[in-house]
Amino acid sequence: MQKIEKIIIPKNYLEKIVEEALKTPNIEICGLLIGVVKNKVVIVKRIKFTPNMAKSSIRFSIDPKILYETYMEVEKIGEDIIGIFHSHPASPQPSAIDIEYMEINPVVWLIIGVLGEENYEIAAWQFFEGKIHNVEIVET
Ligand SMILES: [Zn+2]
Repeated sequence: MQKIEKIIIPKNYLEKIVEEALKTPNIEICGLLIGVVKNKVVIVKRIKFTPNMAKSSIRFSIDPKILYETYMEVEKIGEDIIGIFHSHPASPQPSAIDIEYMEINPVVWLIIGVLGEENYEIAAWQFFEGKIHNVEIVET
């Protein structure tokens, strides 16, 4: 995947993700961002929540079967899995485990950091050429 500088995501999708993250602070929520990539910009067309198979507050795991099925499904309509989202019970900085997986899967990683009942921070990242960098989030 090319270097991504910006992620464009509909406001209502972001709100839905935040809502779920705030609802389950003890288990990381996770899911897939689906859309297209154009000139270093990722455009999110749809989102898909997936169960956290790890059922953990410090890590998440997406069923590879869901990943594969989703990939096959979106490929037919000319789209791709262009990102992964998950939540943290802390700041939205990628964890050491995240960074390992980000290297294997260099799509955009959107992280929702749940800091309190109604308090959160959102950040997006990508692993590119040996390191992680911040991706600008643009709501539409
Ligand atoms: Zn994480």
